[in-house]
Amino acid sequence: MEDDKEMVVCPYNESHIILRARLPFHLLKCQKTYMGKKMIKCPYNAMHIFENSSLLRKHIELGECEDFKFNYDHSFNCK
Ligand SMILES: [Zn+2]
Ligand SMILES: [Zn+2]
Repeated sequence: MEDDKEMVVCPYNESHIILRARLPFHLLKCQKTYMGKKMIKCPYNAMHIFENSSLLRKHIELGECEDFKFNYDHSFNCK
């Protein structure tokens, strides 16, 4: 899968560039050592992390969240 080779930036530290496939593991590790501001997680995907609730709201309202769209479409198609 192409997607496994995709590189993403760690939401906790911009200097961490990791493989998307490794992000869940990296986040668990990075979360423990992270000493900065408290971050807010997207309710639809724990890998979407934001500095404050207005960024999170934008993320969902602007349709940036694939998992929100997925859940939304899914609930429609399933009926
Ligand atoms: Zn990190
Ligand atoms: Zn999201």
